[in-house]
Amino acid sequence: MNSYLIKNVSVLGAAPTDLLLRDGMVAEAGPGLSAPEATVLDATGLVALPGLVDLHTHLREPGREDAETVETGSRAAALGGYTAVCAMANTSPVADTAGVVEQVWRLGREAGLVDVQPIGAVTVGLAGERLAELGAMADSAARVRIFSDDGHCVADPRLMRRALEYVKAFDGIIAQHAEEPRLTEGAQMHEGEVSTRLGLTGWPAVAEEAIIARDVLLAEHVGSRLHVCHLSTAGSVEVLRQAKARGVRVTAEVTPHHLLLTDTRAETYDPVYKVNPPLRTATDIAALRAALVEGVIDIIATDHAPHAVEDKECEWAYARPGMLGLETALSIALEVLGPEWDLIAERMSRTPARIAGLTEHGHDPAPGAPANLTLVDPAARRTIDPAESASRSRNTPYARMTLPGRIVATFLRGEATVLDGKAVK
Ligand SMILES: [Zn+2]
Repeated sequence: MNSYLIKNVSVLGAAPTDLLLRDGMVAEAGPGLSAPEATVLDATGLVALPGLVDLHTHLREPGREDAETVETGSRAAALGGYTAVCAMANTSPVADTAGVVEQVWRLGREAGLVDVQPIGAVTVGLAGERLAELGAMADSAARVRIFSDDGHCVADPRLMRRALEYVKAFDGIIAQHAEEPRLTEGAQMHEGEVSTRLGLTGWPAVAEEAIIARDVLLAEHVGSRLHVCHLSTAGSVEVLRQAKARGVRVTAEVTPHHLLLTDTRAETYDPVYKVNPPLRTATDIAALRAALVEGVIDIIATDHAPHAVEDKECEWAYARPGMLGLETALSIALEVLGPEWDLIAERMSRTPARIAGLTEHGHDPAPGAPANLTLVDPAARRTIDPAESASRSRNTPYARMTLPGRIVATFLRGEATVLDGKAVK
């Protein structure tokens, strides 16, 4: 096992110090450390953060290895500063059995770049008709605690209630893709002034807000944990705020793209901007940012959604929804929040680790903590080139944009997964 002595690093923006990583842990912290056996890294000007944790990643394996594999997605995650990701269940076959979640979990271990925590499907085949083997997935080697039909909404209220009741026994969570399907039939983008002008069928905000309102009532009734995926509207923030004020056990995420990009991007007809839920308005963005700072929205999650070229570079109506996110999330957080390191650590590491029950993650780099951390150069600015992505796909909405911050190094249990801005393996 390697040891690393990180010199002159600012932990979460504090005065520069040294960190010694040994045996998978942060062994020592303080100025002027020495360790003859350790590899020395000069981290002058760099900020250390707890390794980021993504609660919402699509890794596409099994089934669409042409778009992403567990290994390529893990590498993209490490390059983005992540040490753990939760892999969504909409693979092919769907991760709705112990066998498939164990396969994904094992592939993650083999890649060894981040901890891959599988999410199980709520319903068999994501079909929304009958519950999947939630208990078997929870008892499997993958120890699944989060269940989601993401990509589809669990629209049937009786099924949603039963899912919430079922997972309560082991303190599991249902993560809902909130979209009332009858209100979004044929939808191509956010319903509003821009969709009217472009003549595209709209996805109204109320289709999201109605499901969140229903689900917080169901979660309250059952006393279970609900997580809202990719919350995207100002109205959803208000529903969530009221539910939290009543003590409902609900958490919510917002994606980087919903914090930055508006529905006017659809004017380009470039399908790279097609995503579900769709990009919303500047008013929604302002509400989402404020809710994230305030804590009404708990975390940033990427919804990293790689797609093969033929599924994305086609007519808008036929393109699959979704965008890459792992390698740019921290830069977007810096762009949106500024260098608020404690807030970024809270929203991108500590809280997502706590929600997912990933006890080895989300710890600030300090003696005794597992050495899962990332080093950021906050002064760097980089222009995004899709060709440079470690993902197997190229559908980043940030191409040619210049964004703040660069990940210089990432450590998983004390071993470097990224050094000098490059993946180690
Ligand atoms: Zn979704």
